[in-house]
Amino acid sequence: MTTRARRTFDGGCTCRHVRYRMTSRPLFVHCCHCRWCQRESGASFALNAMIEADRVKLLHGDVEVVVTPTASGRGQKISRCPACRIAVWSNYAGGGDLVRFVRVGTLDLPDRLPPDIHIFTVSKQPWVVLPADTPAVSEYYDRARYWPRTSLARRERLLAEHG
Ligand SMILES: [Zn+2]
Ligand SMILES: [Zn+2]
Repeated sequence: MTTRARRTFDGGCTCRHVRYRMTSRPLFVHCCHCRWCQRESGASFALNAMIEADRVKLLHGDVEVVVTPTASGRGQKISRCPACRIAVWSNYAGGGDLVRFVRVGTLDLPDRLPPDIHIFTVSKQPWVVLPADTPAVSEYYDRARYWPRTSLARRERLLAEHG
């Protein structure tokens, strides 16, 4: 890999209409074991890389935004390929449009972004065994306690720019 390729993360949908690039490392990676994520993935958890929206560039294609209900009642905007309907990222009401939750499984090399934290382990499927060295919380968590300092600073900058 070139130096730039090591710092960036490319991905896309299954039919290859949508191709995107994360232009830096994410802020934080959530592995969410809530029932909503289980249902939406059709599996056991969702793996989302949170990143500033302007650090996700569409290299090819376009996305269709589908508003999907959430537990909070405020909804989630899921961006999908208009052709094959694969979901590539979402925006939640909490983070607004400034932060995207990129679906790690749509990266070309998803192994590069393992979870920084496991959340909603209260509804974790019992056969999923979590590694001892990754933080895990029963529901949600205090950002200041778990995020790296650099990610907290990036978030502050984002809020200041768009305040
Ligand atoms: Zn597609
Ligand atoms: Zn969830």
